[in-house]
Amino acid sequence: MSYPELAVHTFTTKSWSMSECIEGYARRGIGGISIWRETLEGEDLCSVARQVSDAGLTGVSLVRGGFFTGKTAKVRNDALEENRQAIREAELLDLPSLVLVCGATVGQSPRENYEQIRDGIGTLADEAASHGVRLLVEPLHPVYAGDRSGIPSLKVANDLCAELNHANVGIALDVYHVWWELDLAEQIDRAANHAWLDAYHICDFKPEQDHLLTDRGIMGEGCADLIGIDHMMSEAGFDGLREVEIFSSKWWARDQEEFLDEILTAYDKIYRPK
Ligand code: ZN
Repeated sequence: MSYPELAVHTFTTKSWSMSECIEGYARRGIGGISIWRETLEGEDLCSVARQVSDAGLTGVSLVRGGFFTGKTAKVRNDALEENRQAIREAELLDLPSLVLVCGATVGQSPRENYEQIRDGIGTLADEAASHGVRLLVEPLHPVYAGDRSGIPSLKVANDLCAELNHANVGIALDVYHVWWELDLAEQIDRAANHAWLDAYHICDFKPEQDHLLTDRGIMGEGCADLIGIDHMMSEAGFDGLREVEIFSSKWWARDQEEFLDEILTAYDKIYRPK
């Protein structure tokens, strides 16, 4: 069986090296890869780009940039520099987009965080375009609004894209973060109608989690209406890859081949019912 419409984030198989990810995904007929900067440590980017293309994988995104907020101009400028570096890396890797976890700073108001994020992305959008890299805002579940992201819903991500009104800024939708939104179908349509709906991350939201970051579910293990969301995406005209992005310390402690097999079994059940 092959999975041309599916990509995997390298952080999903966290204990694998870059080459193990590329080989492991390609061997299963998975079509694409999103590359985490953590997996790239010590790697030669041009050689990674070559390996990805030789393996027949489509590069989707570099993950991740962002963290634009900060109490001083120096902190915010350092963040811009770090993002410029990430944009250059994405270009070297032939990845067409950079996913942004936008940041939030404890002690700042939601409005201050939002405005610093808007200004940071606004500063970089043209530069990123000149490198051929699209900037994708990933809204995060509001539980992360304290210190990870001042963009706590798809609605706010849409509002941000509307305010920036820049052809090089779009959205990465992750079911883990947005499954609970009552106006999800409407906001997905809104994003699609403005050509902001660029990326689609899948996993599941377990109602009881041992850890806020590293206990995400394989599709079907949680309570998100994955089939319903998938219909919303296809009805809105989304035709990109579904990208599996699962952080799970439980699964990371196990054989990653086995983990990937479990993921594909779950994927077949939900997205390819007989
Ligand atoms: Zn994601």
